[in-house]
Amino acid sequence: MDKELRDKYEVVIGLEVHAQLKTKSKIFAPDKNEFGQEPNTLTSPITLGMPGVLPVLNKEAVNMGILTGLALNCEIPARCKFDRKQYFYPDLPKGYQISQYDEPICVNGYLEVNGKKIGITRAHLEEDAGKLVHAGADGLAGSSYSLVDLNRAGTPLLEIVSEPDMRSSEEARNYMEELRNIVRYIGVCDGNLEEGSMRCDANISIMPKGSKEFGTRAEIKNVNSFSALQRAIEYEIDRQIEIVEEGGKVVQETRLWDDNARETKSMRGKEDAHDYRYFPEPDLMPLEISREWVQRIKDSMPELPSQKRERYKGLGLSEYDANVIVEQMGLALFFDKVLELGATPKIAVNFIMGEIAAYLKEDHIEITDTKLTPENLAELIALIEKGTISNNIGKQIIIEMLKDGTKASEIVEKKGLSQISDEGAIKELVQKVVDAHPAEVEAYKNGKTNLLGFFVGQVMKETKGRANPKTVNELLRGIIG
Ligand code: ADP
Ligand code: MG
Repeated sequence: MDKELRDKYEVVIGLEVHAQLKTKSKIFAPDKNEFGQEPNTLTSPITLGMPGVLPVLNKEAVNMGILTGLALNCEIPARCKFDRKQYFYPDLPKGYQISQYDEPICVNGYLEVNGKKIGITRAHLEEDAGKLVHAGADGLAGSSYSLVDLNRAGTPLLEIVSEPDMRSSEEARNYMEELRNIVRYIGVCDGNLEEGSMRCDANISIMPKGSKEFGTRAEIKNVNSFSALQRAIEYEIDRQIEIVEEGGKVVQETRLWDDNARETKSMRGKEDAHDYRYFPEPDLMPLEISREWVQRIKDSMPELPSQKRERYKGLGLSEYDANVIVEQMGLALFFDKVLELGATPKIAVNFIMGEIAAYLKEDHIEITDTKLTPENLAELIALIEKGTISNNIGKQIIIEMLKDGTKASEIVEKKGLSQISDEGAIKELVQKVVDAHPAEVEAYKNGKTNLLGFFVGQVMKETKGRANPKTVNELLRGIIG
């Protein structure tokens, strides 16, 4: 869309994010909470909604709800309660979902994204529904009936609702990414958008720049990657601006994002908006959450991604490096282990951001898929610091360490890679190089001092990179300078 036209409007975005909590069992039933099992094997009578069964609240789900709320700067009210949300759908055996309506477990928080606070209105606990598999016995999509898998039914969810505080698709994406980082670092959710363990509905509206009154919003469902979220929002902004520019009105509705067609399609309008007839769940007592309980969870809070970034910057990492490492939790935990073992942060980060990152990228793998251990990397770094090997040799052997899990000291020993620091030996080589290049020596003496690098390179070549570069430099200066 024409940028000038786009600039006439301000975009308003609020996100509703569902995070599946990684409890061992379901939120109101003892079935295992696991992904990828045989269909309908995690289905107790409670999950199936049999007559006469009663829900029992999983305390771990409550703990995780509180932990997430605290990580999002929320208040945890002294009391919350559960409500029934009625709707009919084949993947909802009871005909209602147990959720929290007017007294949620977390309220009034915020998440800081790139220095801006995005308000969190609330976060509430609820149960997930089952799954419809739209494929017949022949396994082909488009057949005349669907199958129901209730393994997912009863999985604990935390729905995190933001204020309409975001003003661009990029901001929305950054918010979602930081939220994903947080739930992963505090260990409550896998944050896997592709598998649906974290899902996002995006509410989007536009208004003329400078207006105080928000426009009518459309809600977009079915976005299952960060890039799809951004694309869907961009598409929706353009669609709404076109409608308004043509004199039309945006209608409040739910739209589905089709990432292949790259467009949103209307799913249901306001006319058929559900009346969920919420009422308090009679089978569960309101939940009293003592301040001691909240404090206990506060005390168990692990380091949050934002705190990790700050700590890394304090160690001398650039903002870019700190961001990249925190973004990949596996790398960050690995890096922390290496630091704990006493490695110098600067050298460790150079390996991680350089050779290691390139190796992981090439094979699309995680650090934990390699054979490199934090202990081995720390040992390699210690060898470099002691001057046993040069940094360059380190770079050469790290690949073997990643592939085979070999210790640096073993490789150095086996291949005779230890650094030559013996002055006498190096001096002989330096003299040899100087004697072999009289023209360059002349040029150097006439002011072409950058030829020093050439001489160092020649000596390094002679020693296959094993000479101590500091000693080489000093000796060279002594002889030709
Ligand atoms: P519902 O439950 O019907 O979806 P909510 O009031 O809970 O309605 O709002 C859902 C989400 O919509 C929230 O994240 C909120 O920030 C966002 N939202 C509300 N009004 C607007 C608007 N005019 N434009 C964009 N987002 C909005
Ligand atoms: Mg909504």
